[in-house]
Amino acid sequence: MGTKGREILGMNVDDVLSMLNKAYADEWLAHYQYYIGAKISKGPMKDAVNTELLQHAADELRHADMVAMRIIQLGGTPLTHPKAWLEQSNCGYDEPVDPYVGVLLDQNIHGEQCAISVYKNILDATQTGDPVTYNMVLQILQDEVEHEEDLQALKEDLELLLARSSK
Ligand code: FE
Ligand code: FE
Ligand code: MG
Repeated sequence: MGTKGREILGMNVDDVLSMLNKAYADEWLAHYQYYIGAKISKGPMKDAVNTELLQHAADELRHADMVAMRIIQLGGTPLTHPKAWLEQSNCGYDEPVDPYVGVLLDQNIHGEQCAISVYKNILDATQTGDPVTYNMVLQILQDEVEHEEDLQALKEDLELLLARSSK
């Protein structure tokens, strides 16, 4: 990375790179979980759910790109093999074995809650030592908070629909 950019780092660069590569793994797995969920989903409100899942899939891929760019800027290398995503991920991959929309929403809500915790931890760790990473992670965290809310609102609508139609 640039010499002055490195000079202002007030923390161990390998520690930042390790946190960022784990988050990078999370983003790719989240991207695929949303992508495939939108392909296979079944049940009421499927169109509305799929629209949201596809938007989130695109957001997670954009996050992976942001994280990769910062890893490279810091002199690191983003994980080069997909098997490392599963090995290094914080939040793992929740395979959508049941295609019902309500189950997909629950799985992805859980994933967003994990992502929010991960990014909050990186924010806390970089607040004074790496303001550039901090700023990028803050932008991603804002998206993850919005993602959780979007999915919980859809889940609430689905439950209201089912409660009404059973009367
Ligand atoms: Fe993300
Ligand atoms: Fe997200
Ligand atoms: Mg959304």
